Amino acid sequence: MTLKWRHDNNTPVSVTIQNPLLPPAEGDSSFGESLKLTGIPWLNRHGRLCHGTIKIDRGLLKIDGSAAAGDITTIPDHITEIIMPGYIDTHVHFRQPGQEYKEGIGNGCLAALAGGVTTVIDMPNTIPPTCTFAVLDEKRRLWQKLGRVGWGLFLGCNGCEQIPTPASLGIDPAGIAALKVFMARSGSCAAVSEPEILACLILNWPKIAVHAEDETLFPADTAGLDHSSRRPRAAVISALQILATSLELAQRQLGRVPECRLILLHASTCEELHWVRRMKDLGYDVRAETCPHYLHFTAEDQIKNGAQIQVNPPLRDATDQQALWQALADGTIDFVSSDHAPHAPTEKASANPPSGIPGIEKMWPLMALAAESGRISWRRALDLAAQNAAECYAMRDRGVIADGARADLVVLRRTSYKDVDMPRKVVTKAGYDAYRHLVLPWDVERVLIAGKTVWEQATSRAVPLAEEVYAVQSSC
Ligand SMILES: [Zn+2]
Repeated sequence: MTLKWRHDNNTPVSVTIQNPLLPPAEGDSSFGESLKLTGIPWLNRHGRLCHGTIKIDRGLLKIDGSAAAGDITTIPDHITEIIMPGYIDTHVHFRQPGQEYKEGIGNGCLAALAGGVTTVIDMPNTIPPTCTFAVLDEKRRLWQKLGRVGWGLFLGCNGCEQIPTPASLGIDPAGIAALKVFMARSGSCAAVSEPEILACLILNWPKIAVHAEDETLFPADTAGLDHSSRRPRAAVISALQILATSLELAQRQLGRVPECRLILLHASTCEELHWVRRMKDLGYDVRAETCPHYLHFTAEDQIKNGAQIQVNPPLRDATDQQALWQALADGTIDFVSSDHAPHAPTEKASANPPSGIPGIEKMWPLMALAAESGRISWRRALDLAAQNAAECYAMRDRGVIADGARADLVVLRRTSYKDVDMPRKVVTKAGYDAYRHLVLPWDVERVLIAGKTVWEQATSRAVPLAEEVYAVQSSC
């Protein structure tokens, strides 16, 4: 069967698909049937523009093409579609179980597909918090039923009455993305900020992702304070000192640099960037994430835009924003995640609005904007969108367009005036697009997971292809 893709101003491209719409039966050995993409160029793992054919066999890529020499700085105007690896968004809050009215796994996955995201990692501050084997197992079951993109889960560290270890919880760390530690209480997850306890966690877990705001520095009386004064920069600086001390304590106890990978989530300040550079120089395995809202908004914007862009940690100033862009370009920041954190419109409109910005629907378009405008190279865009996250969180099968990689692909299409006139319907239950003020030069045209089209021009197909990242790997 041959499908013609929709094009506004380009020669139609043929896509040969055998049996494209039938979901595989249980145990069906034809899962991931062969498929061929021709006529659309792609970027390889080195950021080089390639022409040829991408074959997909049993969900894996087989590349038959040649690459132009050198990284491309701009994608030539005549190229109106380009294939990229699916975005790996390692920081999402889909709010299930417990707060499905805010998003839910099913709807969150549709929003992910709209943004070209093919793998997500969900945070543990759901209700009840994902802090025990039983709750993790329950959440896994929900995702197996409702997930429509590749997924993995964080385990939450809930307080410290008894220090959680893989052995005490009966959890294999290879089956989760990382342990998530909140140094400021978040929803259903308690705060942990004592260096001795953090050092103990560092000694026991291979990966820890941390929300670095020391809540003991939040003012007790918040009456009359704006959002950023309620969560001051001093809380971040204190958290960084605590984390440095914890790493030193662990190092002293071990007699060598600990192997634990520490992932600094949603970095938003100059101080965090200095800290990351210093820790990396000291030999610690530290990685850094930032989010689109810190790149596109400052605290000043919140005065104009109000609660829709209220977030934790709070938006910072223009100097921080400039430093973040520099850190994206120079490699200090390893990846950009959405921290997709939707709330119901009535909650955001209330007198005491909750914090969180929805953003997953714009991940590839925003990253493509950064590259197209020359703020980062296309090579860095690939690192920041997929390659580095895959490496950091041990997703060995995905994140690049290369022989043998999982065929999680996104076709980006150059936008035209028509797209500006007809903005795409918002998918998230939050009900708004925080980035509607931006003109995005590329949009998501089509998304394939394991070689099958799961999303095309805002039409989701209910093909149950999403599998747990770590389950797939352990069965290989
Ligand atoms: Zn978050």
